[in-house]
Amino acid sequence: MLRLAVRGPLEYDHQTLCVLGHHRRIPPASTALVHQVGDGILVILRSLRQPQYDCLVFFHPREDSTFRAMDTTPEFPTLFIVRHPLVQHKLTILRDRSTPTKIFKELVDEIAMLMAYEATIELTLEQTAVETPLERSMGWRVSGKKLTLVPILRAGLGMVEGVLRLVPGARVGHIGLYRDHDTLEPVDYYFKIPGDVSEREFLILDPMLATGGSAAAAVASLKRAGASRIRFLCIVAAPEGVRRLAASHPDVMIYTASLDRELNAQGYILPGLGDAGDRLFGTR
Ligand code: URA
Repeated sequence: MLRLAVRGPLEYDHQTLCVLGHHRRIPPASTALVHQVGDGILVILRSLRQPQYDCLVFFHPREDSTFRAMDTTPEFPTLFIVRHPLVQHKLTILRDRSTPTKIFKELVDEIAMLMAYEATIELTLEQTAVETPLERSMGWRVSGKKLTLVPILRAGLGMVEGVLRLVPGARVGHIGLYRDHDTLEPVDYYFKIPGDVSEREFLILDPMLATGGSAAAAVASLKRAGASRIRFLCIVAAPEGVRRLAASHPDVMIYTASLDRELNAQGYILPGLGDAGDRLFGTR
């Protein structure tokens, strides 16, 4: 899977296009072309978010390009890093040990909202008529699968309102997990999601992807319930957690604001931001 997320105007066939990013496998029909360009980069261009204007462009590796660096690496093919300047600015304040609970909570909310913009980029659209004050026109509305947010208790709760502000029609399920003392594996003690599972897309929320144990267990619980379209939204990820989640569920895209260095012996992410639940709810 090749992935690229780039922003900025681009001229193609005399039209200004904007590359918004994609996470799709290379379509079989393009295989010959991929071979032709060797290690070239596949980009899906989407103009005005109207799917009928999607097209494919291939670049030879040596071709000059003004594109920004990829937001992912071959080592973590399921990971998408949201590098928007506002997200990175807010994340740095979030990490600061002196940031008080109230601000911490507001920042988690705002970062979740900004990240949800990226994580919902592939929602499908359908055409719809609209009466402007002047005339009847055609527009777009989000169609297809209905979105369900699933915060992992308790820190995931801090991200719900921010995402809902962007997608007010989304439903909210909940997953609570504890670690079994004997097996050390996460077990869900609470699991409640809307009934029409096969018609829904799921966005799991947890600010910290640390060992990946809870994340993988949450995805497994959703899949057992019949879910197939699942994404994972976190604010900080550890390489260990990304690897574990990708190994268990390679079909689940992970969106994060930062891929941090490592986990410490206690399972905290370094440099991280501490215990997200404690900092959100003031239980430090
Ligand atoms: N959970 C947290 O809240 N923080 C970490 O660093 C790791 C897991």
